[in-house]
Amino acid sequence: MSTSKSATVIGAGLVGSLLSIYLAKRGYKVDVFERRADMRKGGAYAGRSINLALSDRGWRGLEGVGIADEIRKIGIPMYGRQIHHVDGSQVFQQYGKDGQAIWSVSRGGINMRLMDLAEAQPNVTMHFEQACEKVDLKNGESIFRHGDTQAETHHTSDLIFGSDGAFSAARLSMMLHNDRFEYRQFYIEHGYKELNIPAGPNGEFLLEKNALHIWPRKNYMMIALPNPDGSFTCTLFFPFEGEESFAALKTRDDVKAFFDRVFPDAVPLMPTLLDDYFANPTSSLVTVKCYPWTFADRLALIGDAAHAIVPFYGQGMNCGFEDCVVLNELIDKHAENWPDILAEYQHLRKPDGDAVADLALANFIEMRDKTADPKFLLQKKIEARFSAKYPDKWIPLYSMVTYSPHIRYSTALREGQRQEAIMQEVMSRFPDLEQRWDSDEVEQAILAKI
Ligand SMILES: Cc1cc2nc3c(=O)[nH]c(=O)nc-3n(C[C@H](O)[C@H](O)[C@H](O)COP(=O)(O)OP(=O)(O)OC[C@H]3O[C@@H](n4cnc5c(N)ncnc54)[C@H](O)[C@@H]3O)c2cc1C
Repeated sequence: MSTSKSATVIGAGLVGSLLSIYLAKRGYKVDVFERRADMRKGGAYAGRSINLALSDRGWRGLEGVGIADEIRKIGIPMYGRQIHHVDGSQVFQQYGKDGQAIWSVSRGGINMRLMDLAEAQPNVTMHFEQACEKVDLKNGESIFRHGDTQAETHHTSDLIFGSDGAFSAARLSMMLHNDRFEYRQFYIEHGYKELNIPAGPNGEFLLEKNALHIWPRKNYMMIALPNPDGSFTCTLFFPFEGEESFAALKTRDDVKAFFDRVFPDAVPLMPTLLDDYFANPTSSLVTVKCYPWTFADRLALIGDAAHAIVPFYGQGMNCGFEDCVVLNELIDKHAENWPDILAEYQHLRKPDGDAVADLALANFIEMRDKTADPKFLLQKKIEARFSAKYPDKWIPLYSMVTYSPHIRYSTALREGQRQEAIMQEVMSRFPDLEQRWDSDEVEQAILAKI
């Protein structure tokens, strides 16, 4: 196949915007179609401050097109978890080695910066308020409708990328017109609601700035991530139904009594809690698994369109940025031969998309429950000590996922399961482990199992 030189990118979210920079730098003429109005003009994100944790896989994606330093300017490093117990006590749990951090970035902020950087490429054109209605897979035509005028636009290109998120129209076209397209989506029983801790009177942070705050409460939790203006965006992950649930908190008094009881140290920092609680939406959390991710040598799904996951490992965006890195490497490897690039792209990435989806679901239990469990913390302490002594034999699962962009998610999942089995056995073998956790016997017991 001759080198294709035009690409349609459907969706100017985080992944579509980054992908368009990668393609533009390779000389492709890129047209990006986004359903929403241009958020840089005070649209969709005005007034909302969702933030995300950016880690090494994401940084690698940004470094690949030389824009990591630009993004670092709008991020805040978080070196560990600050756990808030019900009695008001707090404990800091470092994430990795000294200096290793995940970064809090505003979703709107990073998206707008990526759009600016994409539009700065001479061969990228962005079209706003253009909702993709369908992709005609046979002739490579994408069909859009303008949100305001309702005018229909047909756009043809050599390549098409569906980066239009968890409810992708590009994916739906594949589903409808592709025999044996596999598709599975499922929701967890928890939803989420954004809340807010404002900055202090002088713009100061009212909680530790360089930490991801967690209020773990077994079946649910609240988290808070810092923003550059001194505020924190809080997210309550909470069951939709049940005794303690969104459904059960009906009135302002219900909400106040619940927060006073379970998040007592946070309430004094949340002066607009009750207004925020009732004004902000309750959103659901979906996992999407599908296959194939590509069609007819010209269409590929990327980012959430291919693999929407729950947010508990902080990896959705990071995984999408890694998709861009892998695609870019394959363009080199296959010298722009797109049938080969797309075939290997989905072959490589599908197991990793599935793995990170499973890791993310499992990490909810770790965050909301185990971070407050002394036995789990002891296990992590033993693993950290062992890993420091034998770094070539043991990288903790969190570090494999978060700080090791050269380890595939599927490898991390498999290794993590193997490590967990070893640790469960070692933990059960020593009844007085709290006294002997750093002893030679414990170390030898792990070594013997590896
Ligand atoms: C509460 C929460 C917390 C999260 N925390 C983290 C975190 O800490 N770290 C992390 O890495 N990830 C996190 N994520 C996941 C992350 O937000 C997503 O993985 C990421 O946004 C995916 O990027 P995307 O570009 O694939 O999709 P999106 O960001 O969803 O972008 C899709 C774009 O396509 C547009 N679009 C949709 N339909 C159409 C259409 N028909 N036509 C044209 N355009 C269309 C949308 O308007 C949007 O701009 C979190 C997600 C949630 C919900």
